[in-house]
Amino acid sequence: MKTVLKTEITVKDICDGFIYNELEGKGLFGLSGKLTIQPEYQRNYIYASDGGKREMAVIESILKGYPLGLIYFNTVSDGNFEVLDGQQRITSIGRFVTGKFAIKDENSMEQYFVGMAEDKKARILETKMLIYKCEGKESEIKEWFRTINIAGVPLNDQELLNAVYSGQFVTLGKEEFSNSQNANIQKWGAYIKGSANRQDFLECSLDWVSKGNIGDYMSRHRFDDNINELKRYFNSVIDWVSTVFTDVESEMRGLEWGRLYEEYHKKSYSPAQVSAEVQKLYGDPYVKNRKGIFEYILGGSADTKLLDVRVFDEATKKSVYSTQTAEAETKGESNCPLCAIGHDANKSKVWKLVEMDADHVAAWSKGGTTSSKNCQLLCKTHNRAKGNR
Ligand SMILES: [Zn+2]
Repeated sequence: MKTVLKTEITVKDICDGFIYNELEGKGLFGLSGKLTIQPEYQRNYIYASDGGKREMAVIESILKGYPLGLIYFNTVSDGNFEVLDGQQRITSIGRFVTGKFAIKDENSMEQYFVGMAEDKKARILETKMLIYKCEGKESEIKEWFRTINIAGVPLNDQELLNAVYSGQFVTLGKEEFSNSQNANIQKWGAYIKGSANRQDFLECSLDWVSKGNIGDYMSRHRFDDNINELKRYFNSVIDWVSTVFTDVESEMRGLEWGRLYEEYHKKSYSPAQVSAEVQKLYGDPYVKNRKGIFEYILGGSADTKLLDVRVFDEATKKSVYSTQTAEAETKGESNCPLCAIGHDANKSKVWKLVEMDADHVAAWSKGGTTSSKNCQLLCKTHNRAKGNR
């Protein structure tokens, strides 16, 4: 079977001559009559059922610039095609442009195509579709069609990009990162989530080297005959993580190692000290977010927000509040100890419980515990000023 990717066909082209048959519930023709939308072996149009949510979603995707996914055409005779895969999406688009249904705008008002602002209309009509034109024997086409439909697993983003930018670069990338027989996969799996054959490792390596611009990177390197830069960068990140953190913890999997590498690889760390700190934080019952431990350490163990340290519970707050307030009232001072030593009108103000926040007397990061002995209530202003420690 021969396939050619077409990227220049627009919604406007597809909708030229679009006809929808209400009786049969099928989109019939498009592309100035050259395209048969729902050939005999296709199921009927189903996107208008359940209140039309799916057909509206197709239009909303276009307006937001989201990818519609690949569409497959089968070449039936010179210049004539039928839709192999994508007939529901194409019929949704054709039905919308010909006024068969409305979408809801930001204010939940119904919007038919004809009543839309000109720029929105243009955005829809000028949207380019990713279309594979296939050519093969009928038996081949049907076999293939059955495979993609029965398998029923839609292409994920990376699989789609691999299809769009297919070529030597993708082939080499898959050899390295998508082969579950590759002995390195197990090592990499300590830091990266997902599976090799669904392209998660390839996606991750591309994400790191491109700083998040995968499609752009793939398009620039599409015709390269090597993946040296991709491999070099990926290995630098992995070597760096595994050198700094000698312990392998399950919470390391799927962290943004590419970003952390960029931010911290020029700083030096003592692996032994890092390891001791990792173990200490793992053993600390007040650390709620263990995934944050690694970035916390890399950043110099300062940003406790990353650890989501357990806060004082309501009962503790209430009991500390009553003791503290009773004591303050006998002295005629504010029940916020920082207001009490101040020089303004709040010096003797008695705050309500809801106006105060609980604070660690000895900071958690300096060994202070989250127990009532280490709890004091401060007015909200003073607690904020003291900062997150
Ligand atoms: Zn205060």
